[in-house]
Amino acid sequence: MFTVTAYAAPSATEPLVRTTVDRREVGPHDVLIEIKYAGICHSDIHTVRGEWGETPFPLTPGHEIAGVVTRVGAEVTKHAVGDRVGVGCMVDSCRECVNCLAGQEQYCLNGMTGTYAAVGRDGTVTQGGYSTHIVVTEDFVVRIPDGLALEVAAPLLCAGITTYSPLHHWGAGPGKQVAVVGLGGLGHMAVKLAHAMGAEVTVLSQTLNKQEDGLRLGADHYYATGDQETFKKLANTFDLIINTVSARIDVDAYLSLLALNGSLVNVGAPAEPLPVNVFSLFSGRRSFAGSSIGGIRETQEMLDFCADRGIGSEIEVIPADKINDAYERVLASDVRYRFVIDIATLS
Ligand SMILES: [Zn+2]
Ligand SMILES: [Zn+2]
Repeated sequence: MFTVTAYAAPSATEPLVRTTVDRREVGPHDVLIEIKYAGICHSDIHTVRGEWGETPFPLTPGHEIAGVVTRVGAEVTKHAVGDRVGVGCMVDSCRECVNCLAGQEQYCLNGMTGTYAAVGRDGTVTQGGYSTHIVVTEDFVVRIPDGLALEVAAPLLCAGITTYSPLHHWGAGPGKQVAVVGLGGLGHMAVKLAHAMGAEVTVLSQTLNKQEDGLRLGADHYYATGDQETFKKLANTFDLIINTVSARIDVDAYLSLLALNGSLVNVGAPAEPLPVNVFSLFSGRRSFAGSSIGGIRETQEMLDFCADRGIGSEIEVIPADKINDAYERVLASDVRYRFVIDIATLS
């Protein structure tokens, strides 16, 4: 093992502090990545505050990792020293189950290994990207194309793939009406990606405060959900609604906006169950669904798509000593649209 500088939460109630974490030695199939940028995802905050169940402390979060390969194991074939690479929300899976074999490692039947707060295949707790280096098996490392700056690519590893995968799966494209609920870290990526795929895109946000941004990012329409007229006007309109909001929503009201065979897909994760009236699904043969990140192959496809279309995340780069302030600003929705830590400020 070796030790690297990191930021970690000592407990659920204390701020993150500068510290060190242990990394395993680079094995035959591992790559060592010098991390350049790490995005701050809302999940990081939920996890370090113990809001999603028991968290192993101390914990270094971060699953939007962009950096450069500085060493590779003897049997590595996919990456070389100097390659620009990324790591997202998972660092391993069983690789044997039907879902893994189908390239859907995020749905591994034996449980994929999260980038932080999970028990790795080597028995140790995984520690994430708010650190100078990480060691990851080559199969869970993706290539960041030259056309993408590392700092705008970092948030694509979670926010990008989490929205790309359902847009792709549910067929967002020309002739399709896509609505995005919430214009935050996930929502702004959903708007950019759906627009680039050729869909007609509508943002549904509580207020019209970010309307100018939404239209600039690629939305064709923007409506306030605080206005009840919106639900009357847009009834039976959308083929696909991507709900990025992690708070409680009126599911039946949003289902009423779906056209025949439309799907309401959740990528935000509210803490409590959401009630749904089945009659809302009968009319128009509607679906109420969920989606979780994306497989490794699809993550690479998403990065290549973004490089090809010139799509990155809208970011605010911060030094490491501003992580705790950034958390408060994320909770206050005061970020447009993703904080990215400059890891050079950590070492
Ligand atoms: Zn995330
Ligand atoms: Zn599996």
